[in-house]
Amino acid sequence: MRVRLEGASVTYEGAAGERNRALDDVTLSLDGGVTGLMGQTGSGKSTLLEVLAGVLPPDSGRLLVDGADALRGPGARRLAASVGLVFQIPERQFFESTVEREVCFGLLARGAGAREARERAASALALMGLDLDEIGRRSPFALSGGQQRRVAIASVLALRPALLLLDEPTAGLDPRARAACLAAVRAAAEGGATVVVASHDANALAAVADRVVALEAGSVTLDGPMRALLGDAGLMRAHGLEGACAARAASALRRAGVDVPGTPLTAEELASAIARGRAS
Ligand code: ADP
Ligand code: MG
Repeated sequence: MRVRLEGASVTYEGAAGERNRALDDVTLSLDGGVTGLMGQTGSGKSTLLEVLAGVLPPDSGRLLVDGADALRGPGARRLAASVGLVFQIPERQFFESTVEREVCFGLLARGAGAREARERAASALALMGLDLDEIGRRSPFALSGGQQRRVAIASVLALRPALLLLDEPTAGLDPRARAACLAAVRAAAEGGATVVVASHDANALAAVADRVVALEAGSVTLDGPMRALLGDAGLMRAHGLEGACAARAASALRRAGVDVPGTPLTAEELASAIARGRAS
């Protein structure tokens, strides 16, 4: 799905009537692949995802899906039927009394039969390492934070959305669940979905993203190929972002006089870069 946001601004009004511009004239085109959305807390990542999902209309600007206006009319209905948003706070997304109902809800709302919904719910939960028979009758509100996040991700994955938006999906996940989440994100993109992952976790984005976009105070300040951006520890630091561990280590090693060729982003890539540097 092609999505284009043009000149979008969002201003929130605070409790004391003060105005807070969360997005400032953002223009962004998305068409397949995984885009990692970075930025400090308060930079506007969640607001941008909500605008892209069509749940928060911007004060000004346009949102287009496959060229059609997605803020109203048929384009808005098309977006609503094709988007899946995993909220930053999973409880914000829950409203059903059991996990089974929660994960089936969107499927049933989009016209799946009860049996198909249950099957798709079970396989989405399994992707996130959860067993429908085991957890299905529990209240989503009574789960641990990590389980809640996995259920929230599963309930969106089950929809197989053409536009998949995830807000800090790896926060609070243990290593196995984190790897499962990243694999599912990658698989969605390989299956043709347009995916945006907001995250502080440069190592996670190094594993899944094709492109990285950074926000600062509601404006896009970086937009480019993932490796070029995450591999440049100095650039990331200059934008107040933490780069991938391996890129930071490579940069420290170079300062110490070690030859590290290329732009390693993982521990394995760093190890083979150091080995290549020593052999040359
Ligand atoms: P991020 O996800 O990058 O942390 P947010 O999109 O949540 O950023 O927030 C961007 C800015 O908008 C912040 O200054 C935040 O305090 C403000 N903000 C977010 N949601 C609201 C809201 N519902 N009401 C008022 N201000 C908000
Ligand atoms: Mg946020």
